[in-house]
Amino acid sequence: MDNDRTSRWELISRQKVVLFLCGFLGFLLLIFRSEPGFVFMVDHANLLFHEAGHPIYGLLGPTLGLYGGTMGQLTFPLILAISFYRKANPIGFAAAGIWFFENWLNISRYMADARAQALPLVGGGEHDWFNIFGRWHVLGHDFRIASYVKTTGWVGMFVFVAWFCWVAFSQRHLKPNNESRFELP
Ligand SMILES: [Zn+2]
Repeated sequence: MDNDRTSRWELISRQKVVLFLCGFLGFLLLIFRSEPGFVFMVDHANLLFHEAGHPIYGLLGPTLGLYGGTMGQLTFPLILAISFYRKANPIGFAAAGIWFFENWLNISRYMADARAQALPLVGGGEHDWFNIFGRWHVLGHDFRIASYVKTTGWVGMFVFVAWFCWVAFSQRHLKPNNESRFELP
């Protein structure tokens, strides 16, 4: 069994596994209790990053400005995930990954609204996905694309949960000498 892939990660204590899984269950509850595609608090934050993304990516040109909202809401969890990956912090990495893919549910909601344009938009601005799908000539497929994106979001979140459990399991069962990694240089 290849232990290298799990041995780079900080050891996950039993309490942290329980804490993480309870946190994820709570997060699922929050998702199901919120309106579809807009999770209370989490998507308020995502919306801020979305709105910040337009002008920031917009500095690189109007096309990137259009995609910038969606890119913006994915950029921050991505940066967090990279930073936790570099720190070999499995809980942080998994949580950032779950947040990254939760964004896909929110993006999917916006995509599905491309033709209908029923969602209230911040500042009554332009509809990103009406414009983007219009450019791609796929406006008629907004629902189908949105449903693929939503499915990818769910799969992505569960992949991160599964990965976290796998690392925790491997540390416990495949590597008896974990302790040695905690010696300070
Ligand atoms: Zn936007």
